[in-house]
Amino acid sequence: MLKRKYQGIVTVISGFSGAGKGTIVKHLLSKYENTYNLSISATSRAPRTGEEEGRDYFFKTREEFEQMIEDGELLEYTQFNGNYYGTPKPYVMDVTSQGRDVILEIEIDGALQIKKLFPEALLLFVTPPDARTLKERLVGRGTESPDVIEQRLALAYDQSFEMDKYDYLIINDDLEECVSQVHRIIQSERYRCFRNTDNIKDMQDELRIFAKGD
Ligand code: ADP
Ligand code: 5GP
Repeated sequence: MLKRKYQGIVTVISGFSGAGKGTIVKHLLSKYENTYNLSISATSRAPRTGEEEGRDYFFKTREEFEQMIEDGELLEYTQFNGNYYGTPKPYVMDVTSQGRDVILEIEIDGALQIKKLFPEALLLFVTPPDARTLKERLVGRGTESPDVIEQRLALAYDQSFEMDKYDYLIINDDLEECVSQVHRIIQSERYRCFRNTDNIKDMQDELRIFAKGD
């Protein structure tokens, strides 16, 4: 009998600043315990209040980060708001080689680098239901000054032209519904034929017996 072999999926979650990516990922990890593995990024930006080394980011100096680039330790990296951000290679390679799913919450430039590296990666773009809500969420979060919020909104306009490069558009209106939707999408991806090449091959091998008349 066919026993489904499963290849881990690299899921990339990006979207506008303030769309709710961080919130969705946090809820996804706690609602579906032991299902997803989150890649922790390296960054050269300073820790914010409450952030912890190794839980939120691996915090590096610019020099340390540049050394990581030079040593080929990152799958992708970019500069955002004057700071480096990048995905450490070993964790993603380790998790996926065990057939487990990994989630990367990264910005758009990095997401497109990942798609080049892993064409089978699943790219989700998170947006609030409308632009006004985006502004309200940025203001409500209270982590950026009005100037920075204006910059983020202007950037969001530019980024909106990259949305169609993603596989799925996730509209984060009701949070719980959105989290369930993201989970359903990732789970459904398992059944795509291109992710089941081993299973297809196994079935072909079994059927070959009949084709030869054995
Ligand atoms: P991002 O990681 O995309 O920058 P956050 O996860 O920090 O965004 O969310 C931005 C703000 O919006 C936060 O204050 C968060 O609590 C709030 N938020 C996120 N999702 C929702 C939602 N579905 N409904 C209402 N508020 C939300
Ligand atoms: P923040 O400074 O608010 O934590 O993150 C700023 C932006 O950097 C967010 O859009 C976040 O998704 C993105 N980011 C976080 N880690 C990485 C990473 O490893 N690579 C890339 N390309 N972007 C990242």
